[in-house]
Amino acid sequence: MAHKQQGPVPRGSLQPEGVQRLVAACQEAKRFAYCPYSKYPVGAALLTSEGEIFTGCNVENACFPLGICAERAAIQKAVSEGHTKFRAMAISCNSQEYFTLPCGACRQVLREFGQEWEIYLTKMDGTYIQKTLEDLLPLSFGPEHLNI
Ligand SMILES: [Zn+2]
Repeated sequence: MAHKQQGPVPRGSLQPEGVQRLVAACQEAKRFAYCPYSKYPVGAALLTSEGEIFTGCNVENACFPLGICAERAAIQKAVSEGHTKFRAMAISCNSQEYFTLPCGACRQVLREFGQEWEIYLTKMDGTYIQKTLEDLLPLSFGPEHLNI
């Protein structure tokens, strides 16, 4: 179930209220993390170009390699409901020492949908740094390299 934002989001960087809304959504999503093994809850909130927010949390499994990260859970929810154009994602874990960083696998999955969108890496208190996907995964491989 997606949270509806008011109206389409204008191009360019998000307004501070938009960032705050996205940060709050990723913190809320973190509450649902299923992480009995790592005990490392993560939440992600993905903003589509149409202004809808899809959230995700990490979902672990007793067969460890089958666990999925919050970022990919959010992407799969959005894509499976027809969205493939994204503006931004915010990611939250419970660290106040480090900004929440997506793993390499998630960076590649996010990159499938473009390099220019904004990624907000947050600390537990909601402070954040803004990066682009290009910052996080330079010289990346993507769909255009397959000439499709
Ligand atoms: Zn990941």
